[in-house]
Amino acid sequence: MIAKPLLAALLTCAVSTFSLHAQQAAPKPLQAMPYSPSLDVTSLDRSVDPCTDFYKFSCGGWEKNNPIPADQASWSVYAKLANDNQQFLWGILEDDAKATNRTPVQQKVGDFYSACMNTAAIDALGDKPVQPELKKIDALKTRAEVLSALAELHHEYPGGFFFGAGTGQDAIDSSLIIVELQAGGLGLPDRDYYTKTDEKSVKIREQYAAYIQQLLTLSGEGAEQAKADADATLRIETALAKAMLTRVERRDPHKTYHILTVEELSKLAPSIDWPLYFKVQGAPGVAKLNVSQPEFFKAVDAVLNTEDVAALRGYLRFHLLTAEAPYLAHPFEQASFDFFSKMLRGVPAMPPRWKTCTRAVDRSLGEALGQEFVRRTFSADTKAKTQRMTEQIETAMQHEIESLDWMSPATKAEALRKLHAIRNKIGYPEKWRDYSALEVKPDDYIGNAIRSYHFESARRWHKLGKPVDRDEWGMTPPTVNAYFNPQMNDINFPAGVLQPPLYDPKEDDSPNYGNTGATIGHELTHAFDDEGRQFDAQGNLRDWWTPEDAKGFEERINCGRDQYAGYVIVDDIHINSKLTSGEDVADLGGTLLAYIAWKKQTEGQPLTPADGFTPDQRFFVGMAQWACENQRPENLRVSAVTNPHSPGFARINGVVSNLPEFQKAFGCKPGQPMVHTPTCHVW
Ligand SMILES: [Zn+2]
Repeated sequence: MIAKPLLAALLTCAVSTFSLHAQQAAPKPLQAMPYSPSLDVTSLDRSVDPCTDFYKFSCGGWEKNNPIPADQASWSVYAKLANDNQQFLWGILEDDAKATNRTPVQQKVGDFYSACMNTAAIDALGDKPVQPELKKIDALKTRAEVLSALAELHHEYPGGFFFGAGTGQDAIDSSLIIVELQAGGLGLPDRDYYTKTDEKSVKIREQYAAYIQQLLTLSGEGAEQAKADADATLRIETALAKAMLTRVERRDPHKTYHILTVEELSKLAPSIDWPLYFKVQGAPGVAKLNVSQPEFFKAVDAVLNTEDVAALRGYLRFHLLTAEAPYLAHPFEQASFDFFSKMLRGVPAMPPRWKTCTRAVDRSLGEALGQEFVRRTFSADTKAKTQRMTEQIETAMQHEIESLDWMSPATKAEALRKLHAIRNKIGYPEKWRDYSALEVKPDDYIGNAIRSYHFESARRWHKLGKPVDRDEWGMTPPTVNAYFNPQMNDINFPAGVLQPPLYDPKEDDSPNYGNTGATIGHELTHAFDDEGRQFDAQGNLRDWWTPEDAKGFEERINCGRDQYAGYVIVDDIHINSKLTSGEDVADLGGTLLAYIAWKKQTEGQPLTPADGFTPDQRFFVGMAQWACENQRPENLRVSAVTNPHSPGFARINGVVSNLPEFQKAFGCKPGQPMVHTPTCHVW
């Protein structure tokens, strides 16, 4: 589960968060990471004209050679590398589970893994681990009892109980950690699933209701009761969904910043005893906080007052069960998989157990497991080279900002101040997280998961009143992804994303700058996309743009929005480019910056053609091949609603069609589909 408060602020990148891993033929733990080059000629389809469809030209062979494994919603170069990383972690975990004389770190990750692998013990327990809490919920007879139980449920169990609460940096003063209340409480992936009336959406809601009934029945409810609870749950969630901001609205940080005193919150949503609520979370005496969506909390209050007590109990029982289902006996895990993976995303088969368990350890003990991963896979040389690449790309951005003809000197000065304040975090944290307070037992899988939830939520609540830890990471080291955090004003590249075929120490600079260079440029550009540009050098939400420059920026962004809105994702669903424009701008800016940095890096060097490509062509093919993917149509439909990234073909074709450098490299002529006018440069 992604920890809400910090990660909500992050603009995660490059691959959708539905994570992906697999191998079809009986896999074994890896002792070394497999190698594939950052420019792979077997991935090409040379029968396609690069000026017509550069994505297909670069990735057509990859698409043919890499069918989607049965346990995956989609498959891509990123997903394949994530799978390799997991298979490598699997070997570490097998060792740590059995070794004698283990270090404390090895004991924790090894025992967490062993407990997860012991499916006989997990199945023998059935739903016993959640029965005491289900009984407590059943014993809530009055509205007042339900309301006071809510605080304890939030403290004790992971689960979407009406809303989210935690801590985060104050948007206006990023040096402060404050309490945040967030919208939540839904079981489906987005509010739109509750409001849309098309045939597919109606069907999904029916299947969701069936899933709710299935879980409740498995836990011992009668069919009639389960049906009533499913109806109540859908009714409650629909009321919450209608009051939530859309994903596009949430891209505006002003729309999610509402500082209220606890007295004001108590007037807004009087049903809950807020001082008591915060005390139970371990944060007594909270005076003011950010209520990210006040209208949503009014709706929560209305639901808590108008739904009858039996309906509220049904909703709570289901949310407890759906959060714990992956940790319970097989029928619960299967039900959860069947709905969320098979039905929603089209995945035919459950992942093998080793993968489920490797992911579980990475989620709960990521910086413990990640230490060995870093030690074995991430060389000092790769760290030094990617650090240097990052600095060169920052220099390229400095020159770009200085030479922009549409931006005033005052805005440029602020932009440069922000650029120079960005911190580059490469590979892994300076200081590893200390998990010594987390007890991990070799025979208690769900207990380990719940204790790690307590550990993580305590870690976050305890940040209140302390200085911001700027060395903290929002991703674990083996993660194949990267991010920019606007409030930290830092860019972060875990060791997992700096591996072949993305960063390839055996290859020369051309494909590496095209691939990893463009990713670095992408994260850097997020500092200046439609959302990131609203934060200053200190990570504070502050408008440092002159009105004319802000207008100039928006005009340029709109050019890209119109272009991407023309691409079809699946069926007749077009890209929602208001949702994706931050990522689309980052793709374009990132590729341009990487190209400039590569030219500078290789200045005066005799670059040789290879595989029938000029050096410039190799840069662009290297860039395109990070994005090769195959997607199930069901998963594309989820992505169309929830994913701020455009699909792979659009991320490549959308970018190169705006780069005259690409058109020159491949000799593209006006009138060909990859040659757009006007070009949508912002940076
Ligand atoms: Zn991004």
